[in-house]
Amino acid sequence: MQNTDAVLDELKRRGHRMTPQRRAIVAEIMAMAGHISPQDIVQRLEDRLPGVNDSTVYRTLDLLEEIGVLSHTHFGTSSGYHHAERLDHTHLVCNRCGRTRQIHIEALASVRDELEEKTGFLADFTHQAISGLCSNCREQLRPSD
Ligand SMILES: [Zn+2]
Ligand SMILES: [Zn+2]
Ligand SMILES: [Zn+2]
Repeated sequence: MQNTDAVLDELKRRGHRMTPQRRAIVAEIMAMAGHISPQDIVQRLEDRLPGVNDSTVYRTLDLLEEIGVLSHTHFGTSSGYHHAERLDHTHLVCNRCGRTRQIHIEALASVRDELEEKTGFLADFTHQAISGLCSNCREQLRPSD
């Protein structure tokens, strides 16, 4: 489901009341590419919808996740959403400088397959960011000689 009208229809079909505010929030979310944070949506809507309610934004994100349009990801201390169909990457978060980078999910295919073979567990590396040290920080921490 990639289009705003289809999403609004699906929500209506499930008995959710579609206020003009909620319609605007859904349209904004559907128009966003990449990472979707609740704060971004509030910011983007503020001009057009003065007094947009944060909890309506959060509730709408929840609903869109419920119907499979969005999927949430944890990035260390924060979390955010992606369009579920476009979530093809894992996030690497540096626990020293906080910088995030993305790697394609296929880069972890061998780890995923090995885990599955040994334990039967199918890992979803898109759900939690992987924390560690970025190359920059490692460079800075390297003892100089
Ligand atoms: Zn991402
Ligand atoms: Zn979660
Ligand atoms: Zn770093």
